Amino acid sequence: MPGNLCEHCVGMCCRYLALPIETPEDREEFDDIRWYLLHEGVSVFVEDGDWYIYFAADCRHLQPDYRCGIYQTRPRICRQYTTENCDYHSGEYGWEQHFTCPEHLDKHVREFFADERRRRTKPSSTAKRPRVKARRPAKPIRGRPGPTTDIAGRPLPRLGVKR
Ligand code: SF4
Ligand code: SF4
Repeated sequence: MPGNLCEHCVGMCCRYLALPIETPEDREEFDDIRWYLLHEGVSVFVEDGDWYIYFAADCRHLQPDYRCGIYQTRPRICRQYTTENCDYHSGEYGWEQHFTCPEHLDKHVREFFADERRRRTKPSSTAKRPRVKARRPAKPIRGRPGPTTDIAGRPLPRLGVKR
């Protein structure tokens, strides 16, 4: 691409902000996310398994020509951002899920809890094994004699026992 990449862009990186949020695990937490999504311009996305809230909001200093109006004093986060891996060409960006409305989330929630029910009802590998009751070897109790015969009734040798 000839020239500075930003000259070909409409300031995409200056038109939103995204913040990490807790990964929802129960119905209450999903309901909080539903509340976020009831708001205009808010969406939620999942990237590499991490959840983020996204606000579509132009920076107050984005100029009509899509340049920064406070370039010399722009915040740290803007200084660290480069065209190497930016929104214009996606770079390494890419979400697995992007919820733009509560209905979209509802579908995910139904699938999430259906999967969880399946996981919970799925027999585990150990559950299929025949149940064998573990037997502990007879253990002498201090002060009392231990077994003196084997299961056939033969006397057991009493090794190391001083009489
Ligand atoms: S850094 Fe990327 S997304 Fe931001 S204005 Fe330049 S080209 Fe556009
Ligand atoms: S301060 Fe400048 S670089 Fe940072 S978001 Fe606003 S317009 Fe973009």
